[in-house]
Amino acid sequence: MQVIHSIHEMQSLAIQMRTQGKLIGCVPTMGCLHEGHLRLVDIIKEKCDVVVLSIFVNPTQFGPNEDYERYPRAMESDLAMCEGRGVDIVFAPKAEEMYPANFSTYVNEELCSRGLCGDFRPGHFRGVATVVLMLFNIIRPDVAVFGQKDAQQVALIKKMVSDLFVPVTIQVAPIVREEDGLAKSSRNTYLSAPQRKVAPEIFAALQLARTTADGGEHRAKAVCDVVQAHLGKFPDFRPQYISIVDSTTMQPVEEITPGQTLLAVAVALGTTRLIDNIQL
Ligand code: AMP
Repeated sequence: MQVIHSIHEMQSLAIQMRTQGKLIGCVPTMGCLHEGHLRLVDIIKEKCDVVVLSIFVNPTQFGPNEDYERYPRAMESDLAMCEGRGVDIVFAPKAEEMYPANFSTYVNEELCSRGLCGDFRPGHFRGVATVVLMLFNIIRPDVAVFGQKDAQQVALIKKMVSDLFVPVTIQVAPIVREEDGLAKSSRNTYLSAPQRKVAPEIFAALQLARTTADGGEHRAKAVCDVVQAHLGKFPDFRPQYISIVDSTTMQPVEEITPGQTLLAVAVALGTTRLIDNIQL
């Protein structure tokens, strides 16, 4: 496995591999890897000749009062996990090289990034779209994979790729959960033991919503109320949003259309912000 820090070196290698006719797969991450990330590797490995996993805690997607500084970094164990899972190249650029002092170009997606996390994390999706396009231009992937865990991110990246004719295929991977249902996340390391114990109730609330919708209740508000009522039983939860949206545009809907609608939630638990979603 090769570890590359230099942007120029990564880009030159990518161009060379493409000339050789190799299919490049890309797994963008912020590191502190867990099984959720490694499943993305498995998915991309099946489709490509070369797997490039990027590790970059992207400063532009964090707000001024967010956790950029304290975001968990675990390069050594990340590299061991990548090696064990058959990653070919880890690309870990330096923030100073990605964003030199005179950096001044950003990508703004203006539909899918509205609402949900967009309301609570101003500038977040601008940072995401920008860094993902930068990574695509450096790694030149044929295929890139993203987790459904970050459903709004998936929607806006698909939209950016389509709107800007970016020559890459976007693959989406299902959410990987802990045994008790909590969606795996690098930020779960922030949770105290009591918080970790209550956190799976978020997924329990989503499952109640699914049961309700499967039972024939298709009014979005009624289903959101079920989620709200369940989360309300746990005083430590501070829900930020509970929304039913169109899976492609991420815009709110009043009626659930099976297969086309997503229930998405964000819940603050202490100083940790947890997100989860379920297709209805
Ligand atoms: P992150 O390092 O949190 O930026 O995540 C990198 C990629 O892994 C993103 O595409 C995430 O959606 C995906 N990912 C993170 N957690 C999970 C999970 N529990 N299940 C599936 N994909 C995930």
